[in-house]
Amino acid sequence: MMTDEDNRERPRKIVHVDMDAFYASVEQRDNPELRGVPVAVGSPAARGVVAAASYEARKFGVHSAMPSVTAQRKCPDLIFVKPRFDVYKAVSLQIRAIFAEYTPMIEPLSLDEAYLDVTENLKGMEIATEIAAEIRARIKATTGLTASAGISYNKFLAKMASDQNKPDGQFVITPKNGPAFVERLPVKKFHGVGPATAEKMHRLGIETGADLKERTLDFLVEHFGKSGPYFYGIARGIDNRQVRPDRVRKSVGAEDTFSQDIHSFEPAREGLQPLIEKVWGYCEANEIGAKTVTLKVKYADFSQITRSKTVLVPLQGIGDLEEIVAMLLVPLFPPRKGIRLLGLSLSSLEPRRSEMPQLRFSL
Ligand SMILES: [Mg+2]
Repeated sequence: MMTDEDNRERPRKIVHVDMDAFYASVEQRDNPELRGVPVAVGSPAARGVVAAASYEARKFGVHSAMPSVTAQRKCPDLIFVKPRFDVYKAVSLQIRAIFAEYTPMIEPLSLDEAYLDVTENLKGMEIATEIAAEIRARIKATTGLTASAGISYNKFLAKMASDQNKPDGQFVITPKNGPAFVERLPVKKFHGVGPATAEKMHRLGIETGADLKERTLDFLVEHFGKSGPYFYGIARGIDNRQVRPDRVRKSVGAEDTFSQDIHSFEPAREGLQPLIEKVWGYCEANEIGAKTVTLKVKYADFSQITRSKTVLVPLQGIGDLEEIVAMLLVPLFPPRKGIRLLGLSLSSLEPRRSEMPQLRFSL
């Protein structure tokens, strides 16, 4: 008989599956004219932002969250394609159904990414790398798209590993290799270290996992607050966060600190677009409906305000969210001080009634 405690002590097998250039790959799959050429999903308009870039576009330095104008300048032949979220959502449900054949312990991060805990799996397979390879092959056969996977003993390392052999590859980090892997890794690549935190670490002389490991827990808490213990752990390859299949959340949020303070409306709206896509993507992936939108603004002097709007019926699409965000943002301009951080969160969350479409597997 096994108790919960035994379970916690056992080494875990975590797989992080991440579709390759997801939105852009779906567009290339569905339109042969887009294959082999640089594609950006998003609007080419002056205030547009790239939501996803094909690998051909990435060679020119184009990446997601980049203003479309910048992307166009870097890659003059770039082809912009309008996003089709309904299609991405349908593919996401197909890959979710494949995951579910292996384990109920699935934690989606967005439409195209999820953590799976396969320690105990429904196929009784011993080797997590074989599970990952099989899942990737099934995804390819079912959707025509490639995925990459990271296999490790915790979420942080699994996530880092999935980036190693992208696209269409996988990588395993064993308990023996974990600490050395982290030591070599630049901290700016760490999951959970955004550009602002990376900059702060740089100022503190922390460039790699090895540098991070040299700092005491007290030092990290002093400089990074609540994230301190997390950084202390991951510097040693330790991350005890569980894969949570049915995380009950009260809110979903994202925020960004800008490298230069923002003084006018357009850059602020542009800066919010990736946050809108991130929180909306999370809601879509987890079948969550939301009724309250909260915008957080932190000024250069660190003073902070929030503005909220609650609607009667859960938001129906990303367009609704964009509209409300713009509505909350407009009255804040011109701002009394430069804006250093913008945050966006959704609350009053409720499970969406899922209309599982008929899934057909071409197997
Ligand atoms: Mg991806």
